[in-house]
Amino acid sequence: QAKERGRNNFQFFKPEMNVRAVERQVIEANLRLALIRNEFSLHYQPKINLESGAITGAEALLRWAHPQWGMVPPIRFIRIAEDCGVIVPIGRWVLREACAQTKQWQDDGLTIAAISVNISAVEFRRQDFVEGVRTILAETGLSPNCLQLEITESVLMHHAEGSVAILQQLKDMGIQLAVDDFGTGYSSLSYLNQFPIDVLKIDKSFVNDIGASKTDGDGGIVSAVIAMGNSLNQKVIAEGIEKQGQLSFLKAQHCEEGQGYIFSRPLAAEQFAKLLRLGVTAHVPISAVMPN
Ligand code: C2E
Ligand code: MG
Ligand code: MG
Ligand code: MG
Repeated sequence: QAKERGRNNFQFFKPEMNVRAVERQVIEANLRLALIRNEFSLHYQPKINLESGAITGAEALLRWAHPQWGMVPPIRFIRIAEDCGVIVPIGRWVLREACAQTKQWQDDGLTIAAISVNISAVEFRRQDFVEGVRTILAETGLSPNCLQLEITESVLMHHAEGSVAILQQLKDMGIQLAVDDFGTGYSSLSYLNQFPIDVLKIDKSFVNDIGASKTDGDGGIVSAVIAMGNSLNQKVIAEGIEKQGQLSFLKAQHCEEGQGYIFSRPLAAEQFAKLLRLGVTAHVPISAVMPN
């Protein structure tokens, strides 16, 4: 709160009615309506096997189309939704929608190995989280091996002991587990080893540094994470690949999978299905095959 106030150094509002607080309240109220008014949708960003170029799956990303404000990016509302708890019903909606859509694609004969869904700290720490996931899988009929849950490193580490137990229950159901934004959360390596993790997602900030003339221009962190994942038997996926140089580097280091604008932005469901139907492999940028 003090930090927020510090940033508004032109304070013609009284602190207790500052602009941010009011904005938060307005967003909060609108988030509650958004579910009822059906304003959410999911976009799907392809995940690519870097060696074969095949699409192995997708990450489901939440989109909010507000009737007056237009598209509101997740960075503007996820945090607020977490703080007021409305992330719980929103998260359930996301999970159900992603599972139902993926099952539908599979029933239509399309090959999609796994759908990834982002799980927030607030959802992950609820007593009924695991049961909720189990129920949604049962209701939608999606095979648990086709579901991958992305949980950020900082969430896992915050309650490391408790996390191990929850992760194990999910793992026992056959669900795949990924550590999102890996490298940004001060992992304790000893815990990382205890978590039943299948996938490490290298944060895009490190991918962005590859070849850049600043701090880690030689991609040292990226190489180290790939090596670590390989020796711990975890699949490594790089997020936020934008440039050919980054892609070449990752391939040379035998990073297994990648995601990024160089292949495709997140796509609306119908567009993603079209891509699957075309059977595109991404040795060429997907955008060259299918313009948005
Ligand atoms: P994330 O899970 O790390 O997702 C990756 C973000 O990077 C996405 O942003 C994606 O569109 C973006 N991205 C993908 N490729 C590139 C690239 O090549 N360059 C750049 N600059 N960006 C790229 P998005 O969709 O805006 O989502 C932002 C964050 O919001 C996500 O980060 C995730 O933490 C959160 N989020 C999104 N959807 C959900 C959701 O359904 N539930 C929860 N709890 N969080 C979500
Ligand atoms: Mg993610
Ligand atoms: Mg990520
Ligand atoms: Mg990230």
